[in-house]
Amino acid sequence: MAGWRDRAVCVGGEPEIFFPSEPSHPNAYAVARAVCAQCPVRAECFNAAASAEGGRAADYRYGMWGGLTPEERASRHRAARKAETP
Ligand code: SF4
Repeated sequence: MAGWRDRAVCVGGEPEIFFPSEPSHPNAYAVARAVCAQCPVRAECFNAAASAEGGRAADYRYGMWGGLTPEERASRHRAARKAETP
């Protein structure tokens, strides 16, 4: 049975694009962001990353997933937690 990963546009691509060796460089994720913007399974990819990463700090998240950098995913997580707090 085909899963969402079978429809990912990054399959077979250069890993360095999504897992840059210098992630703090201002343009480290520029190409990955452009690729992810064209991907039909961005939501599924993000959800998988969110599930795997849980509440980790940005320093403990790696690579571009769902079109978001580690910092962006950590920020999303914090915002979601804040929204859940009564
Ligand atoms: S959203 Fe980006 S990282 Fe995720 S599967 Fe699509 S191209 Fe790959």
